[in-house]
Amino acid sequence: MSAPPAPTRAARDALAWTHSARFLTTASRLDQLPPTELPEIAFVGRSNAGKSTAINTLAQQRRLAFASKTPGRTQHINLFALGPKDAPDALFADLPGYGYAAVERAAKLRWQQVMADYLDLRRSLSGVVLLVDARLGLTDLDRRLLAFIAPRVRTGQVKLLVLLTKADKLSRREADAALRAATEALGEIASEHADIGVALFSALARSGVDDVATTLHGWTRVAQPQP
Ligand code: GDP
Repeated sequence: MSAPPAPTRAARDALAWTHSARFLTTASRLDQLPPTELPEIAFVGRSNAGKSTAINTLAQQRRLAFASKTPGRTQHINLFALGPKDAPDALFADLPGYGYAAVERAAKLRWQQVMADYLDLRRSLSGVVLLVDARLGLTDLDRRLLAFIAPRVRTGQVKLLVLLTKADKLSRREADAALRAATEALGEIASEHADIGVALFSALARSGVDDVATTLHGWTRVAQPQP
């Protein structure tokens, strides 16, 4: 097997940036999140979609996103800061996974509201990364989530990247089919201003990592106010 191609300069810069991710704060309610001018990228997905693994892979840290899995914190929004230590330039928001059957109904409903409010109202939200198990494709819950953010995606205010995770488990042919199906489903929220991407991702095979880092880095550069 040949060695993977060396990352481009843009990818190297982007990876250095994602590697700088560090825990900032955690909140169970929207009004507990610090107001910020920094562009924020939210990671969302069904539980078990591979969200924590993807964040940890991007950050090159083994346990960064596993804070969100400790009992008592599973329904929290966890924020990570990126960029220079003394001058962070962006935030990642790790939102709780949804669709976990064992969560009691009242807690589920309360949480859905926090999630809906976050996606609707968080002013600094500039991008959403939706993680979807490539073998399952977009489920009803994922489509519901997309419907929440569709208005802000259509105006271009919030960018969207759908990552088809665990791509190492798919043959080339299955991967192509998964890409096609997701692209087709996203056609519903496309518009002239929308910035929507779909990509295969594997933390295990480390495929798609450079491209995702480059995309997210690019989002936050565009979102920065000009001096
Ligand atoms: P989360 O609930 O969305 O945070 O999901 P996790 O990151 O905990 O991953 C759920 C399961 O999928 C775990 O058993 C992971 O080891 C596995 N997983 C995550 N990413 C990959 C991947 O790229 N390839 C494979 N084969 N398994 C993965």
